Amino acid sequence: MEKFDVIIIGGGPAGLVASKILVAFGKKTAIVERAKLGGDCTHSGCVPSKTLLKSAKVVYDAKNISKYGLTSNELNIDTSSVLSHVRAVVDEIYAHETPEIFEKAGVSIIEGEAFFKSKSEIQVNDKIYTASKFIIATGAAAAIPDIKGLKEVSYLTNENVFLQKSIPSSMIVIGTGAIGIEMATAFNRLGTKVTLLSRSKGILKDSDEELSSILLEQLKKEGIEFLNNCNFEEVFEIQNEKSITLKREGKEQIITANELLIATGRAPNVNLGLENAAVKYDKNGVKVDAYLQTSNKNIYAMGDVSTKYKFTHIAEQEAIVAASNIGLPINKKMSYEHIGWCVYSDPELAQIGLTPKEADSQYGDEVKTYKLEYKNSDRGYTDMDKIGMIKISVLNSGKIIGASILGSRAGELIHQLQLAKTFDISFDKLSKMVYLYPTYADIIKQPAKKFYINKLLNNKVLKFLKAAKGFLTGAKS
Ligand SMILES: Cc1cc2nc3c(=O)[nH]c(=O)nc-3n(C[C@H](O)[C@H](O)[C@H](O)COP(=O)(O)OP(=O)(O)OC[C@H]3O[C@@H](n4cnc5c(N)ncnc54)[C@H](O)[C@@H]3O)c2cc1C
Repeated sequence: MEKFDVIIIGGGPAGLVASKILVAFGKKTAIVERAKLGGDCTHSGCVPSKTLLKSAKVVYDAKNISKYGLTSNELNIDTSSVLSHVRAVVDEIYAHETPEIFEKAGVSIIEGEAFFKSKSEIQVNDKIYTASKFIIATGAAAAIPDIKGLKEVSYLTNENVFLQKSIPSSMIVIGTGAIGIEMATAFNRLGTKVTLLSRSKGILKDSDEELSSILLEQLKKEGIEFLNNCNFEEVFEIQNEKSITLKREGKEQIITANELLIATGRAPNVNLGLENAAVKYDKNGVKVDAYLQTSNKNIYAMGDVSTKYKFTHIAEQEAIVAASNIGLPINKKMSYEHIGWCVYSDPELAQIGLTPKEADSQYGDEVKTYKLEYKNSDRGYTDMDKIGMIKISVLNSGKIIGASILGSRAGELIHQLQLAKTFDISFDKLSKMVYLYPTYADIIKQPAKKFYINKLLNNKVLKFLKAAKGFLTGAKS
């Protein structure tokens, strides 16, 4: 029986990051991976989706050159190799995280599916391995909704959508979270007739409602058909055509397309004999405390299998915390105070901290949300990118507690506010920086200046001096 200091189950972003840290701490470390190192992020998540979105953007821009004062006699775009391009990019990124590279760095890679046999042993294939500590980093898979007939139909999820041979001519997308919105955007731009179905009223339920509504209008303008408040009754397939019967506003409707993509959330991968290891879990995943320890204190869990926030950057941050807690004598809590995310739609929608609505309900009069539309940015004009808005929620003290950005480069831009928020840089200080012109970043300067002026106007000493000056001038005259 081979023994390690630490065995990590799952070689996605969380597992890979933790393994490097543990090796640096001198721990004899192994990763067990049943598929390919890199996990969902590299093979069926972030990387292929962002690559496809980029190709789709190029098509969209090419079709809209008149916006930039250009004309073209002929535009003949062939998308037949776009999915091979996506897979080639995945391979390029995977080339940096192969088993050979990790073995060379000192991490043992065990290929196969891990299953706990006891509190301190796992089985992989027909071998038993033991370790002083384990980390569960098995990620999540597409959550499949309970719709009559769905099991009998060949549908797509993130696992096979990028493996298709060609871009389908029509597609039903169920789900309006980040994955559904990104995939609807990309396939629609690449020529697929997309029908986006939602059980709820709008899209991206965790985002600012005003911004997600602007984004939805843009998606509709581009040709995506959006049906909200749907009750899904039944799914069926006839000659490779998939149909869904749904009820909306009391009326029954049947939608048919070549493909059906399920994007209704993520379900944690918990099927690895956790009961044998006394590790508690439920439908939301493995239960962990603030130190990322499970109910078995020698077993940690991190990433999509246990966290509420299913993003690569959160998985990686949790990996740093879990690995440090194993490697160092001092235990550190995982903090979610400064998290955020971005939906890579076009325009992008990025969020850090609280949305304006959450800020209002938590802080009332103590908070004010500063807004500015992208059409106030000169760069928005030069680039013909005027759709969007920035919203920054700031406490009277100057502390930034949340920001939402819809617009070009929102995912990059939000880091300026994330920096200020994380390191407690008062919002007015951002007005004192020199912003380069013309950049999207300078859209933050105007709200910051407004806050600075409000701060000056409310400054008690200045108010007193102003009143005193008024009194003295009055006394003189
Ligand atoms: C379409 C899509 C787009 C996304 N886009 C983004 C994005 O733009 N930005 C972002 O931050 N996040 C994005 N995500 C989310 C991101 O992919 C995940 O948050 C991230 O991959 C989680 O990392 P992880 O290491 O926890 O799990 P995973 O990446 O899922 O890795 C888990 C690994 O464990 C392995 N495994 C599972 N069970 C076992 C077992 N019993 N034995 C051995 N191995 C096992 C799996 O094979 C897998 O390799 C996206 C997700 C999807 C689906």
